Amino acid sequence: MPNPENTFTATVLGLPRIGPNRELKRAIEAYWAGRIDAAALHGLAGGLRVAQLNAVRAAGLDSIPVGTFSYYDQMLDTAVLLGALPERVHGIADELDRYFAAARGTAEVAPLEMTKWFDTNYHYLVPELSAATEFSLHPDKPLAELEEALALGIPARPVIIGPITFLKLAKSVDGSELLDRLPDLLPLYERLLGLLAAAGARWVQIDEPALVTDLTEAELALVHSTYQRLAAGSGRPDLLVAGYFGRLGPVLPVLAATGVEAIAVDLVAGGDADVAAAQELSGTLLVAGVVDGYNVWRTDPDRALTGLAALGAGGAPVAVSSSCSLLHVPYSLAAEPDLEPRLRSWLAFGAEKIAEIRLLATVLHEGQDAAAEQLDIARTAVLDRRSDARLCDPTVRARLAGLDAADGRRVPADERRRLQQERLQLPPLPTTTIGSYPQTGRIRVARAALRRAEIDRAEYDTRMRAEIAEVIALQEEIGLDVLVHGEPERNDMVQYFAEQLDGFAATANGWVQSYGTRCVRPPILFGDVTRPAAMTVDWITYAQSLTGKPVKGMLTGPVTILAWSYVRDDQPLADTARQIALAIRDETVDLEAAGIAIIQVDEPALRELLPLRRADQPGYLEWAVQAFRLATSGVADTTQIHTHLCYSEFGEIIGAIAGLDADVTSIEAARSHMEVLDDLNAAGFDLGVGPGVYDIHSPRVPSTEEIGTSLALALKAVPAERLWVNPDCGLKTRGTAEATESLRNLVAAARALR
Ligand code: GLN
Ligand code: ZN
Repeated sequence: MPNPENTFTATVLGLPRIGPNRELKRAIEAYWAGRIDAAALHGLAGGLRVAQLNAVRAAGLDSIPVGTFSYYDQMLDTAVLLGALPERVHGIADELDRYFAAARGTAEVAPLEMTKWFDTNYHYLVPELSAATEFSLHPDKPLAELEEALALGIPARPVIIGPITFLKLAKSVDGSELLDRLPDLLPLYERLLGLLAAAGARWVQIDEPALVTDLTEAELALVHSTYQRLAAGSGRPDLLVAGYFGRLGPVLPVLAATGVEAIAVDLVAGGDADVAAAQELSGTLLVAGVVDGYNVWRTDPDRALTGLAALGAGGAPVAVSSSCSLLHVPYSLAAEPDLEPRLRSWLAFGAEKIAEIRLLATVLHEGQDAAAEQLDIARTAVLDRRSDARLCDPTVRARLAGLDAADGRRVPADERRRLQQERLQLPPLPTTTIGSYPQTGRIRVARAALRRAEIDRAEYDTRMRAEIAEVIALQEEIGLDVLVHGEPERNDMVQYFAEQLDGFAATANGWVQSYGTRCVRPPILFGDVTRPAAMTVDWITYAQSLTGKPVKGMLTGPVTILAWSYVRDDQPLADTARQIALAIRDETVDLEAAGIAIIQVDEPALRELLPLRRADQPGYLEWAVQAFRLATSGVADTTQIHTHLCYSEFGEIIGAIAGLDADVTSIEAARSHMEVLDDLNAAGFDLGVGPGVYDIHSPRVPSTEEIGTSLALALKAVPAERLWVNPDCGLKTRGTAEATESLRNLVAAARALR
């Protein structure tokens, strides 16, 4: 039971940190470039934090998270806190430079690996641990940020990543079982809790999102013993354990029995799955995540109030909260004056979500009359959204209803391979690239000039065509077999399509952190999706007109468009995916009619949307694969479909890769020594495959011999008639000189083996 003086009613689980106008991004990049020093960076960061804390307090939250600020990433911060940075950066004397070296590497040391944070589009840095890692406590950052907030009179609640999530998300470099290290970590956590309490923290939030994944019985027992031990300590603050991104399931009663004072429950991603178990509780503060921290829709107040009432039905006190940290949504709608007013009225970004939480808490504790007017505005907006005709386009609906199984099927792959080869006449081990070519300074200049209206659309198009012509000439000269147009016209592989499809809106300033200083501006998919006109045909046919070699059409797949957008939450994702699939399907048919013989449909996000719990995965994979097939099966058997996936550890989705039935799949493989090919073989995959033969993430130019060795390795796993030769991923981030040299070596290596 929380200390009665400590109880609170309205909070969020974490705050965005990149700055309302990406000030932190710019400052960190200026520091990296040597334009400002560490003191200037710290000064700017402190200013951002203080302004944010004051704003959040003014908005009426009575418990405020601190310490979710970061110069790069919260897992990296936790590794620093626990003295667990990799050995190779220990020699870097300056603390901040050591931190950034672990994050992004230097000329001498490799950075930590980066991977997706649960099923979100945020990437964390993966701590490297082993049985020999010697943990030690370095609490300066959490203590300093707590003291900074307390000095302002903020009801501050330090947030730290819990030991179970930290260990489960870290990488074991020696193969040892990392959860075995809990006994070494817990004394550090106990000491930290004591220090935070002594510094004035009444609460500490311990983030344990790993608790919403499938846990073994043994892991459940560890949850119990860990939190029982932390809760038994004396001189500690009250503890809030936060699981988010899904349902806690069996963990909820286990946690409640440990004596922690509060548990955060995600009622958005977890639905009402945890409500029944919560109703058994009466002595735990339930921090109810009813406001979606991972999407941008205004909360339906009645639905939220029903959820809040159900959660507390057993008598437990309830506080209103976001479902997860607000890290994943833009700062404020105030920065979107040009958004169409009707759409805008349906949305809530960070600041608006905080206002919603305050409103719901007021209504929960004081009744509806206490905020009748605001409630009314919220209800009207929610109803208005439901009634907008753009959310229900009868033509798309009828088309989807009329589909049958045959619309996702093509003739057997062997037969297609024969027909396509007859048409394309490609040499054995055909060489190609993944799509984008280096983004030159000229492209960036043209894009900026168009945005500022210094040049018109026609002039912009002329410049992009010049880029395409150059990329085609370069590929011909290098001797590649299947060419691409280079994607100069694409700002981003999802945004480009979202801007041209109906049912999507773009924001002007809706930046969210993807990793480090990299921010993205996800489009908002609000309505039924339709394609008013062809989106890529002019560019691709122009490229094709310049060469006798086949040019690949280049599209983004339905699952990736979904994953990298804010999507409507009023219908199942599967339905939205099928609508996008139809639009992409129409584009493939138009490309084919314009004479394009090969079309690549990228699905780098196929794995990222995979549900966290195994029980939910087959259902997802079924609709995701169906959406891809719907998008790619409208073409003739003589048209070759390619796809591209940006990773090599398929894990649970290996079967789905075969299910996509793409004629050729290009994947990352260079860094894992072609091992992925064995996994594909084991799953019965027998389609064309282009394992990346060199790593495009590094500026290093691979030699012909080195690529030859990779290819020889690949040929042990895949017969020559199915093997393609290509880099790991698109070349957008590389320089022209190094990309050209690498591709020359790639072509030489393929020719040597033919
Ligand atoms: N076709 C895209 C490119 O080459 C694919 C990008 C990706 O895989 N993320 O850039
Ligand atoms: Zn890729």
